[in-house]
Amino acid sequence: MEVRILVVEDERTVASALRRGLRAEGYDVDVADNGEDGLWRAREGSYDAIILDVMLPKLNGYKVCRTLRDEGIWTPVLMLTAKDGEFDVAEGLDTGADDYLTKPFSFVVLAARLRALLRRGGENTAEGSSFVAGDLSLDPKSHTCRRGDTAIELTAKEFAILAYMVRRTGQITTKSDILDNVWDYEFEGDPNIVEVYIRRLRKKIDEPFGARTITTVRGVGYRLDPES
Ligand code: CA
Repeated sequence: MEVRILVVEDERTVASALRRGLRAEGYDVDVADNGEDGLWRAREGSYDAIILDVMLPKLNGYKVCRTLRDEGIWTPVLMLTAKDGEFDVAEGLDTGADDYLTKPFSFVVLAARLRALLRRGGENTAEGSSFVAGDLSLDPKSHTCRRGDTAIELTAKEFAILAYMVRRTGQITTKSDILDNVWDYEFEGDPNIVEVYIRRLRKKIDEPFGARTITTVRGVGYRLDPES
Protein backbone atom coordinates (compact mmCIF):
# COMPACT_ATOMS: atom_id res chain seq x y z
CA MET A 1 0.00 0.00 0.00
CA GLU A 2 1.22 3.46 -0.88
CA VAL A 3 2.34 5.66 1.96
CA ARG A 4 1.02 9.16 1.37
CA ILE A 5 2.91 12.24 2.52
CA LEU A 6 1.70 15.83 2.39
CA VAL A 7 4.40 18.49 2.17
CA VAL A 8 3.27 22.04 3.05
CA GLU A 9 6.12 24.34 2.10
CA ASP A 10 6.20 27.65 0.19
CA GLU A 11 9.92 27.68 -0.64
CA ARG A 12 9.97 26.12 -4.06
CA THR A 13 13.50 24.74 -3.91
CA VAL A 14 12.84 23.04 -0.56
CA ALA A 15 9.45 21.75 -1.70
CA SER A 16 10.77 20.27 -4.92
CA ALA A 17 13.80 18.72 -3.21
CA LEU A 18 11.45 17.10 -0.69
CA ARG A 19 9.12 15.88 -3.39
CA ARG A 20 11.97 14.37 -5.38
CA GLY A 21 13.67 12.80 -2.36
CA LEU A 22 10.52 11.36 -0.84
CA ARG A 23 9.36 9.93 -4.16
CA ALA A 24 12.75 8.27 -4.53
CA GLU A 25 12.08 6.66 -1.14
CA GLY A 26 8.85 5.27 -2.54
CA TYR A 27 6.34 7.64 -0.97
CA ASP A 28 3.36 9.15 -2.71
CA VAL A 29 3.88 12.91 -2.28
CA ASP A 30 1.55 15.90 -2.58
CA VAL A 31 2.77 19.47 -2.14
CA ALA A 32 0.82 22.52 -0.98
CA ASP A 33 2.52 25.92 -1.16
CA ASN A 34 0.43 27.81 1.40
CA GLY A 35 -1.27 27.14 4.73
CA GLU A 36 -4.86 27.28 3.51
CA ASP A 37 -4.28 24.79 0.72
CA GLY A 38 -2.29 22.61 3.12
CA LEU A 39 -5.11 22.58 5.64
CA TRP A 40 -7.67 21.75 2.98
CA ARG A 41 -5.58 18.89 1.63
CA ALA A 42 -4.82 17.55 5.11
CA ARG A 43 -8.55 17.40 5.82
CA GLU A 44 -9.61 15.90 2.52
CA GLY A 45 -6.78 13.50 1.72
CA SER A 46 -5.88 10.51 3.82
CA TYR A 47 -2.21 11.16 4.49
CA ASP A 48 0.06 9.02 6.62
CA ALA A 49 2.17 12.01 7.66
CA ILE A 50 2.43 15.75 7.08
CA ILE A 51 5.64 17.75 6.73
CA LEU A 52 4.63 21.26 7.70
CA ASP A 53 6.64 24.45 7.39
CA VAL A 54 5.98 27.05 10.12
CA MET A 55 6.27 30.25 8.09
CA LEU A 56 3.68 29.95 5.34
CA PRO A 57 1.54 32.40 3.36
CA LYS A 58 -2.17 32.74 4.28
CA LEU A 59 -2.10 30.51 7.36
CA ASN A 60 1.03 29.66 9.34
CA GLY A 61 2.06 26.14 10.29
CA TYR A 62 1.08 26.55 13.94
CA LYS A 63 -2.47 27.44 12.94
CA VAL A 64 -2.71 24.64 10.42
CA CYS A 65 -1.60 22.09 13.02
CA ARG A 66 -3.80 23.47 15.80
CA THR A 67 -6.85 23.48 13.50
CA LEU A 68 -6.28 19.87 12.47
CA ARG A 69 -5.95 18.73 16.08
CA ASP A 70 -9.03 20.71 17.10
CA GLU A 71 -10.91 18.90 14.36
CA GLY A 72 -9.71 15.53 15.66
CA ILE A 73 -7.30 14.85 12.79
CA TRP A 74 -4.26 13.11 14.31
CA THR A 75 -2.06 12.57 11.26
CA PRO A 76 1.55 12.75 12.50
CA VAL A 77 3.05 16.20 11.86
CA LEU A 78 6.75 16.94 11.42
CA MET A 79 7.27 20.70 11.63
CA LEU A 80 10.00 22.51 9.71
CA THR A 81 11.31 25.55 11.52
CA ALA A 82 13.72 28.33 10.68
CA LYS A 83 16.98 28.71 12.55
CA ASP A 84 16.53 32.34 13.58
CA GLY A 85 14.69 31.57 16.77
CA GLU A 86 11.19 32.43 15.58
CA PHE A 87 10.18 28.96 16.62
CA ASP A 88 9.52 28.09 20.20
CA VAL A 89 9.66 24.35 20.84
CA ALA A 90 7.01 24.39 23.55
CA GLU A 91 4.71 26.52 21.40
CA GLY A 92 5.17 24.21 18.43
CA LEU A 93 4.37 21.17 20.52
CA ASP A 94 1.41 23.03 22.03
CA THR A 95 -0.16 23.13 18.61
CA GLY A 96 -0.02 19.34 18.49
CA ALA A 97 3.00 18.78 16.27
CA ASP A 98 4.75 15.45 16.86
CA ASP A 99 8.28 16.42 15.99
CA TYR A 100 10.25 19.28 14.52
CA LEU A 101 13.34 19.81 12.44
CA THR A 102 15.33 23.03 12.08
CA LYS A 103 16.22 24.35 8.62
CA PRO A 104 18.56 23.74 6.95
CA PHE A 105 18.22 20.02 7.55
CA SER A 106 19.78 17.03 5.89
CA PHE A 107 17.41 14.91 3.87
CA VAL A 108 18.78 11.77 5.53
CA VAL A 109 17.77 13.09 8.95
CA LEU A 110 14.35 14.15 7.71
CA ALA A 111 13.75 10.72 6.17
CA ALA A 112 14.73 9.02 9.45
CA ARG A 113 12.39 11.23 11.48
CA LEU A 114 9.60 10.59 9.03
CA ARG A 115 10.09 6.82 9.20
CA ALA A 116 9.94 7.07 13.01
CA LEU A 117 6.64 8.96 12.85
CA LEU A 118 5.17 6.53 10.35
CA ARG A 119 6.26 3.52 12.40
CA ARG A 120 4.74 5.00 15.51
CA GLY A 121 1.44 5.53 13.73
CA GLY A 122 1.52 1.96 12.45
CA GLU A 123 2.29 0.49 15.84
CA ASN A 124 -0.50 2.45 17.42
CA THR A 125 -3.09 1.12 15.05
CA ALA A 126 -1.76 -2.43 15.11
CA GLU A 127 -1.72 -2.71 18.85
CA GLY A 128 -4.88 -4.45 19.96
CA SER A 129 -5.50 -3.96 23.63
CA SER A 130 -5.79 -0.82 25.68
CA PHE A 131 -3.54 0.14 28.57
CA VAL A 132 -4.98 0.79 32.00
CA ALA A 133 -3.52 2.39 35.11
CA GLY A 134 -6.11 3.02 37.80
CA ASP A 135 -8.96 4.98 36.21
CA LEU A 136 -6.66 6.09 33.39
CA SER A 137 -7.06 4.17 30.15
CA LEU A 138 -5.45 4.43 26.74
CA ASP A 139 -6.77 2.84 23.58
CA PRO A 140 -4.11 2.82 20.84
CA LYS A 141 -6.62 1.83 18.16
CA SER A 142 -8.83 4.86 18.53
CA HIS A 143 -6.07 7.04 19.96
CA THR A 144 -8.22 7.88 22.95
CA CYS A 145 -7.25 8.55 26.51
CA ARG A 146 -9.74 8.60 29.35
CA ARG A 147 -9.72 9.38 33.02
CA GLY A 148 -12.84 7.63 34.26
CA ASP A 149 -15.52 8.79 31.82
CA THR A 150 -13.72 11.95 30.74
CA ALA A 151 -11.98 11.90 27.36
CA ILE A 152 -8.58 13.61 27.25
CA GLU A 153 -7.06 14.81 23.99
CA LEU A 154 -3.40 13.94 23.52
CA THR A 155 -1.04 14.53 20.61
CA ALA A 156 0.60 11.47 19.07
CA LYS A 157 3.82 12.08 20.99
CA GLU A 158 2.08 12.68 24.31
CA PHE A 159 0.09 9.53 23.73
CA ALA A 160 3.22 7.52 22.93
CA ILE A 161 5.00 8.76 26.07
CA LEU A 162 2.03 8.06 28.31
CA ALA A 163 1.52 4.60 26.78
CA TYR A 164 5.18 3.83 27.39
CA MET A 165 4.93 4.97 31.01
CA VAL A 166 1.71 3.07 31.62
CA ARG A 167 3.42 -0.10 30.41
CA ARG A 168 6.08 0.61 33.03
CA THR A 169 3.69 1.44 35.87
CA GLY A 170 5.46 1.64 39.23
CA GLN A 171 8.93 1.56 37.67
CA ILE A 172 11.30 4.47 37.37
CA THR A 173 11.55 5.80 33.83
CA THR A 174 14.51 8.00 32.93
CA LYS A 175 14.51 10.73 30.31
CA SER A 176 16.77 8.63 28.13
CA ASP A 177 14.38 5.65 28.43
CA ILE A 178 11.68 7.91 27.04
CA LEU A 179 13.89 9.37 24.30
CA ASP A 180 15.13 5.93 23.26
CA ASN A 181 11.71 4.36 23.17
CA VAL A 182 9.44 7.11 21.96
CA TRP A 183 11.65 9.05 19.55
CA ASP A 184 13.06 5.93 17.83
CA TYR A 185 15.84 7.76 16.01
CA GLU A 186 19.13 9.01 17.37
CA PHE A 187 17.92 12.05 19.31
CA GLU A 188 20.29 14.99 18.96
CA GLY A 189 18.24 17.79 20.45
CA ASP A 190 17.85 18.95 24.02
CA PRO A 191 16.84 16.02 26.29
CA ASN A 192 14.89 18.54 28.38
CA ILE A 193 12.24 18.24 25.71
CA VAL A 194 11.01 15.32 27.85
CA GLU A 195 10.29 17.76 30.69
CA VAL A 196 8.16 19.84 28.35
CA TYR A 197 6.11 16.78 27.48
CA ILE A 198 5.80 15.57 31.08
CA ARG A 199 4.57 19.02 32.11
CA ARG A 200 2.01 18.97 29.33
CA LEU A 201 0.86 15.48 30.25
CA ARG A 202 0.40 16.46 33.89
CA LYS A 203 -1.69 19.44 32.82
CA LYS A 204 -3.92 17.13 30.86
CA ILE A 205 -4.16 13.89 32.82
CA ASP A 206 -3.48 14.97 36.43
CA GLU A 207 -4.10 18.60 37.33
CA PRO A 208 -7.75 18.84 36.17
CA PHE A 209 -8.53 15.73 38.23
CA GLY A 210 -6.51 16.62 41.34
CA ALA A 211 -4.41 13.52 40.67
CA ARG A 212 -0.65 12.98 40.81
CA THR A 213 -0.15 10.01 38.56
CA ILE A 214 3.24 11.09 37.25
CA THR A 215 5.74 11.81 39.99
CA THR A 216 9.29 13.11 39.61
CA VAL A 217 12.02 10.96 41.09
CA ARG A 218 14.58 13.66 41.76
CA GLY A 219 17.72 13.37 39.67
CA VAL A 220 16.60 10.07 38.16
CA GLY A 221 13.41 10.39 36.16
CA TYR A 222 9.72 9.82 36.52
CA ARG A 223 7.36 7.21 37.82
CA LEU A 224 3.78 6.58 36.87
CA ASP A 225 1.75 5.35 39.77
CA PRO A 226 -2.05 5.29 39.59
CA GLU A 227 -2.42 5.18 43.38
CA SER A 228 -0.41 8.28 44.24
CA1 CA B 1 8.28 29.13 4.63
